[in-house]
Amino acid sequence: MNLNKLYTKLSENLFVLHEKMFPLYLITGKENFLIDTSISALQENIYKKIKSLLSGRSLDHILLTHSHYDHTGALPFLQEKFNVSISGSKRTIELLQKEDVRVFIADMNTRFNNVLGISEKIEFPELKKLHILKEGDRIDIDENRYFEVITSPGHTKCSLSFLLMPDKILFPGDAAGVLEKNNKIKPLFLSDYSSYVISLKKLIKIEAEMLCPPHNKYIIGKEKVRDHLMQALESTIDLKDKIIRSLESGAGIEDVSESILEKEFPLPVVEGPKKAFNINLNSMVRAVDKLTKPS
Ligand SMILES: [Zn+2]
Repeated sequence: MNLNKLYTKLSENLFVLHEKMFPLYLITGKENFLIDTSISALQENIYKKIKSLLSGRSLDHILLTHSHYDHTGALPFLQEKFNVSISGSKRTIELLQKEDVRVFIADMNTRFNNVLGISEKIEFPELKKLHILKEGDRIDIDENRYFEVITSPGHTKCSLSFLLMPDKILFPGDAAGVLEKNNKIKPLFLSDYSSYVISLKKLIKIEAEMLCPPHNKYIIGKEKVRDHLMQALESTIDLKDKIIRSLESGAGIEDVSESILEKEFPLPVVEGPKKAFNINLNSMVRAVDKLTKPS
């Protein structure tokens, strides 16, 4: 195995593990951290890479940006291997403690396996060592470096972002959308449009030096990060306007979702079960539909 190709050193103590669709970030220090875990199908690969990178040291903590199946799928396996602690927002932790949520995460990961031609059925057993994080929490890495916890809802209600300080490296989770293969940024305001916009503006204000999203590629340089996040904001407003126009023309939620999926995002960077795409698009149309109705 040529390990040089398997990960890249992004800064002194930050590595990106190259996984198709799901770059994963490993931060080393007195204690070692992984941000999110991607899908079950990749867990063996991820485990091997982390082991080789840490050469004998253990992975201590996993920080979750949110509870979605493609960020949590490899959690049980990695916890079994490394006995890691798992931290996320209160809502993320509560969701992971629910049996029906774990069944859903397992089912979506089994479906993803099928997409990849793997027949294995995924189980998602109960997790341990779960910790709740909240806005402003500081997680020490070593003497000088720490993560700052930032709530960034809108993609989901449970979304967090992490800022690695003092380097100002931002891990936004899905709060800034996903850069697609045609270089369009796909907005992902699945739970709430207004919160999503507020979160994006909050992330822009940080003026991060590097952006490390959980899909596609990382972005280095303050200007580039800013440009990317501004584009994410523009495409968010743009998509909202398109959805409003379609809804006003009398189209139903299902039809609007279908046409957006086909017209706007024909080249997804993250593959996966069709069910996941449908749920996502439907949620965004519903989020906009809510805006147009008096509460
Ligand atoms: Zn997500």
